[in-house]
Amino acid sequence: MSAYLSLRGVGKQFGAFTALKSIDLDIARGEFVCFLGPSGCGKTTLLRLIAGLEPMSTGRIGLAGRDISALPPAERDYGIVFQSYALFPNLSVADNVAYGLVNRRVAKASALARVAELLTLVGLPGCEHKFPAQLSGGQQQRIALARALATSPGLLLLDEPLSALDAIVRLKLRQEIRALQRQLGVTTVMVTHDQEEAFAVADRIVVMNQGVIEQIGSPQAIYREPASLFVAEFVGRINALPARRCDDGDQAGLQIGAQRFTCDPTLLASHAPGAALRLYLRPEDLQVLPGSDRGAGVGIDDNSFEARVEAIEFLGPYCLLRVRSAALGELALTLSLPVNDPARAQLQPGGQLRLRLPPERMRVFG
Ligand code: ATP
Repeated sequence: MSAYLSLRGVGKQFGAFTALKSIDLDIARGEFVCFLGPSGCGKTTLLRLIAGLEPMSTGRIGLAGRDISALPPAERDYGIVFQSYALFPNLSVADNVAYGLVNRRVAKASALARVAELLTLVGLPGCEHKFPAQLSGGQQQRIALARALATSPGLLLLDEPLSALDAIVRLKLRQEIRALQRQLGVTTVMVTHDQEEAFAVADRIVVMNQGVIEQIGSPQAIYREPASLFVAEFVGRINALPARRCDDGDQAGLQIGAQRFTCDPTLLASHAPGAALRLYLRPEDLQVLPGSDRGAGVGIDDNSFEARVEAIEFLGPYCLLRVRSAALGELALTLSLPVNDPARAQLQPGGQLRLRLPPERMRVFG
């Protein structure tokens, strides 16, 4: 991958506090990358360093082959949208959008034509003469987006642009931003703490924690193949089961409570026999076996066990079931079932069910 935006050893100190530790990151031209992480992990600070709104303590930043580390914001070739609308309240929509063009001394007629083009692009044609206070939150963010794109920057920076909006507007606008980004091919970095938002729009997600990058990968890779304990627990829901490696001859296995489970030997390659581990499984990866099967015919592993339903939470398209299993030493597990799954109709709190841990879905961390 040839990098369009390239970060090397980027660090940031606020006095004695280290907000970012030696970040290395390459982003290709035209990519949409999200910085995702818990509050305080440094994602906004990293965006601000790229924008030149905050000085770096260490490292270098390259953009389109230029070292921009020491350049002031105006010379870095990006557009930025902040969480709060940050439009100039006393300027019309046209003057807000044209702001960067006027600074670049673009002729008035060209600027007006460009404003009209941008307003059409963000779905608000003809609103040149309105003022920010006359627009809804979603409309103001569209104008902020038009303003950020006015000078056709090489890089678009989005700092939680949707978090002040209500749920429906948020959903719609994130689809629009993604479609617009594809249409324009503009390299985009968006900060968000909303996992679903990152999954929905990003080509790649950068998961951050306490000033370091935990994992960089596609949404699928981040969700299905978390590289660390932190990512497994931070992204999506997960069951973490205390287990011990216990092989049976050549067959790799894990002991949980009183029961032994078969697993893929590569899963345990870096763990010694007898080692205490944590087995991770997503709620949707636990299989509910039909009552009649009772574990028969599930294959050679028979990784099945009895559990009782403690609670069922209805969440619209799916249900979350909290179950507990005596065979697993009274461990509690969470599983999710599509609301139309026939198995769900028969399940009630207090009822019994048979579950299976599929070896191909298991992840283990020491
Ligand atoms: P959030 O989602 O809450 O905005 P974040 O991941 O974007 O979190 P940052 O705003 O980048 O986090 O902040 C990272 C850390 O640096 C935090 O602990 C924050 O308190 C600290 N920090 C940020 N700006 C400053 C500053 N100007 N002075 C001192 N500390 C700061």
